[in-house]
Amino acid sequence: MKTIIEPFRIKSVEPIKLNTSNERVGILESAFNNLFLINAKDVIIDLLTDSGTGAMSSQQWAGVMLGDESYAGSNSFIFFEKTIKEMMGFKNIIPTHQGRAAERILFSTMVKDGDYIPSNNHFDTTRANVLEVGAHPYDLVCSEAKDFNSSYPFKGNMDIEKLNAFIKDKGVEKIPLIMLTITNNTGGGQPVSMENIRSVSKLAREHKIPFYLDACRFAENAYFIKLNEKGYSNKSIKEIVKETFSYADGCSVSAKKDAIANIGGFLCTNDDNLAKKKKDLLILTEGFPTYGGLSGRDLEAVAYGLKEVIEEDYLQYRIESTKYLGKKLNELGIPIINPPGGHAIYIDAQKFLPHIPIQHFPGQALACQMYIEGGIRTSEIGSLMFGGKDKDGKIFYAQNELVRLAIPRRTYTQSHIDYVIEVMASIKDKSHKIKGLKIIYESRTLRHFTAKLERV
Ligand SMILES: *Cc1c(COP(=O)(O)O)cnc(C)c1O
Repeated sequence: MKTIIEPFRIKSVEPIKLNTSNERVGILESAFNNLFLINAKDVIIDLLTDSGTGAMSSQQWAGVMLGDESYAGSNSFIFFEKTIKEMMGFKNIIPTHQGRAAERILFSTMVKDGDYIPSNNHFDTTRANVLEVGAHPYDLVCSEAKDFNSSYPFKGNMDIEKLNAFIKDKGVEKIPLIMLTITNNTGGGQPVSMENIRSVSKLAREHKIPFYLDACRFAENAYFIKLNEKGYSNKSIKEIVKETFSYADGCSVSAKKDAIANIGGFLCTNDDNLAKKKKDLLILTEGFPTYGGLSGRDLEAVAYGLKEVIEEDYLQYRIESTKYLGKKLNELGIPIINPPGGHAIYIDAQKFLPHIPIQHFPGQALACQMYIEGGIRTSEIGSLMFGGKDKDGKIFYAQNELVRLAIPRRTYTQSHIDYVIEVMASIKDKSHKIKGLKIIYESRTLRHFTAKLERV
């Protein structure tokens, strides 16, 4: 059959309260045109993030009831550890309360002041944690990634030549590890090919530099490899996942993504000495190494989620449903980053709303219009998020003005997505009437969370 269905039945539902466009105008006004300041109950379709917003399965909920809350050596940890060891092949598995806690422990134990950390693209929290220990994060993503219209299937790849030059330039002793984010969150989850993972690993090993994966979306990445990389169409996702991790010395993972849990994370390493150091730090900030800031029931939910996420029916539905939204927006002539990635679609708001100058935040203006028109919440990834004032008070802007539609896992059905598409079609018809915004209040850091804006 050509129709790809959601490979699950719905057993428990959470009602969505529908509101009217007029009501939403009032709600947005009292939130000063900042979607972070709106209550979730006033949102119809929430595409703010795919992190921790997925729907757990009946098996995961059953695991929640079975959670062993023993302080040390709980059954739930043994199950969690065994599942990850078997799937990823690492020797030491360290649970943490979420991805950034794993990153903090990783960088605090391996990186020192003045070091350099290359990646394809560092995710925000990775970058912040590298900076926190006084090191310098570098993004060495391939040049295809910068072309929104290129149909290159592995836009998350690291530029190997650049990495080689980087190692020569900075010196091996200044590079305590190489990171690679799979899928690359920046750009909506663009995948990294196995060939690229292998090449980064080879280079790292030649120079004896540890190689770590930021593997939050490892299963989505594996599915893209199966779909688009020569030699992998007949391999199982399990085999592809195993091969992926075989090239790395360790990884950090947020279980809020591909483990389809609402909270959790973990850190893996093959280095026993390093694992000891990491566990000492874990005890200081997260908890004993058999729970690491999580309850036994969380460990169960993560372990079952990991087993479910590598099922091919699930991944086919997941990747196809993101692609479906991308395809329909392309057909409407709404400019997006192509090809669609695994977990999100990015609309190029600058191109879509050319009459709004970047000083007036076209991305935020579009995000607000999507809320008024259909109660859809998205996030601006543009100058509200990445712009600001430098030390001398000079205003700077982001490179791109994007709106991200992140798709939670197993949460919305195709008719929800069709509704989003209809809302976008309706916005397109009157896009020239959308007005820009200006900031009337902003904080010094991470201003997008709390900024207040008004229409110009
Ligand atoms: C979400 C995410 C993280 C951080 O994980 P949290 O659980 O939010 O702390 C790190 N890297 C990538 C690529 C992510 O998507």
